[in-house]
Amino acid sequence: MAKKAKKKTPTRAAKKTGRATRTVAPKKTTGKKKVKKRASKVATSRDKESLEARRTRAGKIIAELDRLYHGAECALTHKSALQLLVATILSAQCTDERVNKVTPALFKRFPNAKAFADAEPAELEELVKSTGFFRNKTKSIKGAGRAITDNFNGEVPDNMDDLLTIPGVARKTANVILGTWFGKNIGVVVDTHIGRLAHRLGLSWRSRDSKDAVKIEQDLMEVLPQQTWTDVGHALIYHGRQVCNARKPDCPSCTLADLCPSANTFD
Ligand code: SF4
Repeated sequence: MAKKAKKKTPTRAAKKTGRATRTVAPKKTTGKKKVKKRASKVATSRDKESLEARRTRAGKIIAELDRLYHGAECALTHKSALQLLVATILSAQCTDERVNKVTPALFKRFPNAKAFADAEPAELEELVKSTGFFRNKTKSIKGAGRAITDNFNGEVPDNMDDLLTIPGVARKTANVILGTWFGKNIGVVVDTHIGRLAHRLGLSWRSRDSKDAVKIEQDLMEVLPQQTWTDVGHALIYHGRQVCNARKPDCPSCTLADLCPSANTFD
């Protein structure tokens, strides 16, 4: 193959004398610039894909996720809707592993909604302390216990409107309970992993970034078949933990790479 000719430009002295020249190597694009360039292409392709094409691609992503993580379940240990609700409150800004270490003693000490409602704050705080933000979490859990006892006869309700009246329960927690415990696909859970993957995989196109949970959920509801919402959520969380992690996604070994507009756009 013929070598690329190097551009020759006159040196300052040469400009004066009109003789000598020096060799200047062509400007190289740095790694960071290349990544930036690829990332902007990703943003463009993410915006331009038609809904039909996106749904077709989503179908292939779902099939691959099912092959990889068939039967994936919620990682929070629970035996009832109430336990799942409490564990989900505790999982805010905390790993599921940490929550699972705390909940066995917690659920043994407080077996039902009334027990949580009547709990001494100091005792509850001590039990959930290691999950972080323990004062707010204690307030939410006690408040949830009280609302469930007083308004729902001690049973966690199975519909979105009622769930959203419970202290500490926002749409994400309600979606977890409805999907995982009651088997109802009313919405899509958008946690930190799902938000990140939906954004990277181009399954969300109206969100500004991976933290824009409201728009990400709307997009996912539009692009994924409703019956898959809960299962895809669980599988995305597994993939986010095992392959597409926040700091260093392992694109070279990711089997979704051919379907992912962000593949290999990271440093
Ligand atoms: S190809 Fe890379 S960015 Fe895309 S899902 Fe896989 S690991 Fe994540």
